[in-house]
Amino acid sequence: MRASKILRICGVDVTVKYSDPGDWAPGGQGRANTADFSITIKDGLPKDCEATVLLHEVIHTICSMNGLSFDRQETEVSVLATSLTAFLRDNDFGFDSD
Ligand SMILES: [Zn+2]
Repeated sequence: MRASKILRICGVDVTVKYSDPGDWAPGGQGRANTADFSITIKDGLPKDCEATVLLHEVIHTICSMNGLSFDRQETEVSVLATSLTAFLRDNDFGFDSD
């Protein structure tokens, strides 16, 4: 199982954990919990799928931290996550170069 990592979201350290899917709804690939500032991602997902799931949970976290009702609208969150993952993958921002 992969080691957890910390991502800073809206200035808050959020722990990203990789786990078996047994502790959430069948078919689920991730979840966000702002009670303890954690995101859980299903371990072993293909890289592109993992990126989309992570971004999906980051969007949930941002919405929840900021009191946006958008947090409960799964379709909108999914469309944003899928679209933003493709946007980040398909464009070169030069973030890696000096
Ligand atoms: Zn969701």
